Amino acid sequence: MAKKHFKAESKRLLDLMIHSIYTNREIFLRELISNASDALDKLHYLSLTDEAVRAQCNDLHIFLRPDKDARTLTITDNGVGMTAEELEQNLGTIAKSGTLQFKESLESADEETLGNIIGQFGVGFYSAFMVSDAVTVRTRSCKTGEANCWTSTGADGYTITPCEKETCGTEITLQLKADTEHEDYSEYLQPYRLQHLVKTYSDYIRYPIRMELEKTRTVGEGDDRKTETYTEIETVNSMVPIWKRSKSEVGEDECKAFYKQKFGDGQDPLYTVRVSAEGVVSYQAMLFVPARAPYDFYSREFQKGVALYANGVLIMEQCADLLPDHFRFVRGVVDSPDLSLNISREMLQQDHQLHTIAQNIEKKIQSELKKGLANDRETYEKFFDAFGLQLKYGAVSDFGAHKDKLQELLLFYSAAQQKRVTLAEYVAAMPEEQKYIYYACGESVQKIGALPQAELVHEKGYDMLCLTDEVDEFVMQILGEVSGKQTRSIKDDNAELQSEDAAAKVDAAAAENKDLLAFVKETLGDAVQDVVLSKKLKSHPVCLSATGGVTFEMEKYFAAMPGNEPKPKAQRVLELNAEHPAFAALKAAFADDRDRAKVLSEILYDQALLIADLPLDDPAHYAELVCSLMA
Ligand code: ADP
Repeated sequence: MAKKHFKAESKRLLDLMIHSIYTNREIFLRELISNASDALDKLHYLSLTDEAVRAQCNDLHIFLRPDKDARTLTITDNGVGMTAEELEQNLGTIAKSGTLQFKESLESADEETLGNIIGQFGVGFYSAFMVSDAVTVRTRSCKTGEANCWTSTGADGYTITPCEKETCGTEITLQLKADTEHEDYSEYLQPYRLQHLVKTYSDYIRYPIRMELEKTRTVGEGDDRKTETYTEIETVNSMVPIWKRSKSEVGEDECKAFYKQKFGDGQDPLYTVRVSAEGVVSYQAMLFVPARAPYDFYSREFQKGVALYANGVLIMEQCADLLPDHFRFVRGVVDSPDLSLNISREMLQQDHQLHTIAQNIEKKIQSELKKGLANDRETYEKFFDAFGLQLKYGAVSDFGAHKDKLQELLLFYSAAQQKRVTLAEYVAAMPEEQKYIYYACGESVQKIGALPQAELVHEKGYDMLCLTDEVDEFVMQILGEVSGKQTRSIKDDNAELQSEDAAAKVDAAAAENKDLLAFVKETLGDAVQDVVLSKKLKSHPVCLSATGGVTFEMEKYFAAMPGNEPKPKAQRVLELNAEHPAFAALKAAFADDRDRAKVLSEILYDQALLIADLPLDDPAHYAELVCSLMA
């Protein structure tokens, strides 16, 4: 049969595997055992509903057989097996989604990131090539009964040919590489070394992992006593799922190792949450918060969920109903003896026990994050970098139904403290007379700091939150009030940043300049809703504010989104600073040169747009106007 070629990204990964100096080679065994265990789980699962499969489902186990003479290591399971088509799909292509990001990260992969890639994209099987010159997979599908053999010597491709195999399941034979001066591959032929690796990485695997081990015993009496060796097949793993063992028995490190193995992540989780509940519903849960978002986390493809077990038996790989959307980054396992084994997906959704577990889990995650925030800020900030955006989406989703519980987990950048703070911390630091939680939205902290309105906030000795995510403004609006303080944009008409005296002065000036303001409004026409004298400005000549509900951030947000025609637009109010020389110039022009006053009005409006980071309607015209002043 003709050789087939690996898909491009698979080939690149294989090259990396084959030539890598990745120090953690031994994990190949864990990866292959984990695949075998999954295959056994799948067979078990199918057997629940399929009579024919049930007949093939007995003594589920994994067998490791080193052969020193042939220099091979064989890993056998009697699980589901694969059809030729599945072989092609599963072992011919890695990372079925084949996203751009995946390809990119492969291209830039070095020693350090390799481990992460191995984890993040679930390329476990290929790790076999870190220790082998050739890999042979003989497999028989329990569904069709067909048996096939897949072989590959690495990057040059693979072949699939029909073969004879009596029982269903998969047998993977690794032709181990020759030892070199620096590398010892023969260690994977030593039964006790393999046993040690199983203990280290795969102890909790639910199925027996068996090996033939050499033993010694004493036989005979008196002078005839002698020691002889014999072999015995032994189960080398303890088979108790890690989440069923008590907290005192399983250390933090072991939980982390389990997470990395089970969920294929190269990095330790940031938080581990363990629950052991007895009561109306009994269950154990081991939940993890990863250190970073998977590459597809903020896309539609990402599927949330935790693995669901009934007394150690897998019912569902990803049970979405157990996690609220705002905590969709959580991974882990939930195990309850109260759940029925052959419960269907539809039934699960209505299952009362499951619902109770889901509620408990949500509370546990919530309190763990809260604890993390209080006790170790650095780790929490890492968490927030990865998933803070998800929490914000959660706060605005369902019309703010979850905002109260999520609010306390949010961080925003404080202009005064120059670091991220919680809303509670912001409120605690507020001077007594400060009425509102001030915030401003913009592209960057720097741009926000340069906003004309920011000056008054600063002068008053107030802090403001600098919001740079698109969703932030919605968060502030939906929160409305935190610890009795309302949130308010510094760009808002009611920002109340000026003292009463100063405000009265502005009101008086506005009355005095009524005709001038009306003239500017008439000049600008429909572009603005109103032209007023500002109570927010200090040294800047102008600013824009929005009236009527739609803010500038919303306008930008909708402008960037497809659809939604006509796009919502913020109604603009042009605010002029009566104390500024530019205003004096405008006033003088209004008195004796109306054409010039028109030009100045238009320039001031365009400047306000620029400062607000909004596009000019006609930049060339603006440039002309400015030049006309120079002439
Ligand atoms: P992952 O396990 O993360 O999906 P792998 O590259 O390790 O990635 O395996 C790819 C796929 O090959 C698996 O998802 C599974 O469908 C199939 N596979 C691997 N090993 C076995 C096995 N021993 N029995 C049945 N199927 C297997």
